[in-house]
Amino acid sequence: MSKPSPEVYEQGKGMDAHNKVMREIRSEKDATYDPHEPTRVWIDEDNTPDGVYQSLTIILNTGGCRWARAGGCTMCGYVAESVEGGSVSHEALMDQIDVCLDHEDSEAEERSGLIKIYTSGSFLDEREVPAETRRAIAETFADRDRIVVESLPDFVEQGKIEDFTGQGLETDIAVGLETGTDRVRRDCVNKYFEFEDFIAASEEADAAGAGIKAYLLMKPPFLSESEAIEDMIRSIEKCAEYAHTVSMNPCNVQRYTMVDELHFRGGYRPPWLWSVAHVLEETADADAIVVSDPVGHGSDRGPHNCGDCDDRVQRAIKDFDLRQDPSVFGQVTCECERTWEAVVERETTFNGPLTR
Ligand code: SF4
Ligand SMILES: [Zn+2]
Repeated sequence: MSKPSPEVYEQGKGMDAHNKVMREIRSEKDATYDPHEPTRVWIDEDNTPDGVYQSLTIILNTGGCRWARAGGCTMCGYVAESVEGGSVSHEALMDQIDVCLDHEDSEAEERSGLIKIYTSGSFLDEREVPAETRRAIAETFADRDRIVVESLPDFVEQGKIEDFTGQGLETDIAVGLETGTDRVRRDCVNKYFEFEDFIAASEEADAAGAGIKAYLLMKPPFLSESEAIEDMIRSIEKCAEYAHTVSMNPCNVQRYTMVDELHFRGGYRPPWLWSVAHVLEETADADAIVVSDPVGHGSDRGPHNCGDCDDRVQRAIKDFDLRQDPSVFGQVTCECERTWEAVVERETTFNGPLTR
């Protein structure tokens, strides 16, 4: 059997039924986007190994993830945000950066010390972001302290990272590892690489003087609540050896995804916020900063509890992100914790949700 890689799948040699289904689902999208505008940009605060920084987060609109075009991950709707035609020129990408700098000037009193760039794919894939653009972006942000760029492990190479470290920037490579368990990554997320590839990417980053920020996905489809919790605890402990920061994010239901189809038919429920809090508490002494950003919290399509306590638990999670103090979770309680406990005890691998 051929080794799964984006190229192999793109040539139609893939062996995974997930890709076929995902291609069909994605083909339903019909929106197109302006290549001169970023997908999103915002100002926030982030915890880093050097302390808390004001951050400018940029989601560049590139041609989209090549893995997503082959079919892609079961929960990921990002390709639906990409431009038509599949590639964006250097000039258009730099226009997007200018829009982001204007946004920062108008929204923040000072310039952000931390820049985070995501692309709905891989920033280090030169089909998405040409080498010329990568270098121009490194120069543009040379006066900042830190930069994070996201990439699949295949494209992480020492020489590319040195474009940033060579500018004196503390550099982190964000890798969407999703889980430390190869079987869950392959069968539930439909992501093609293995933990070994993640280790190899971390070695490339290390050789360039950069660090790794690992992104984990809590509760992909086909896992019960308790399996999802166990998977995350195990994964955080496993990847803390290679990553200085782990961002453990609960799955949410995005449009044009397999998760959406399952959710629509009552076959998927995003994780409870209590599960997120529990994992953060259990891994508080891991040798890494562990943070979580429950997107869409409190909604049916995002991680949620009963509706009454969601905002309070979310605030405790955000508080934990900045202070890494697990006692914040002792300060929130709600009757629905009892329901959550019953779900953790009884929800089965078949993944028939016990609650909505
Ligand atoms: S999660 Fe990442 S690798 Fe998977 S399809 Fe989306 S952008 Fe591509
Ligand atoms: Zn509640």
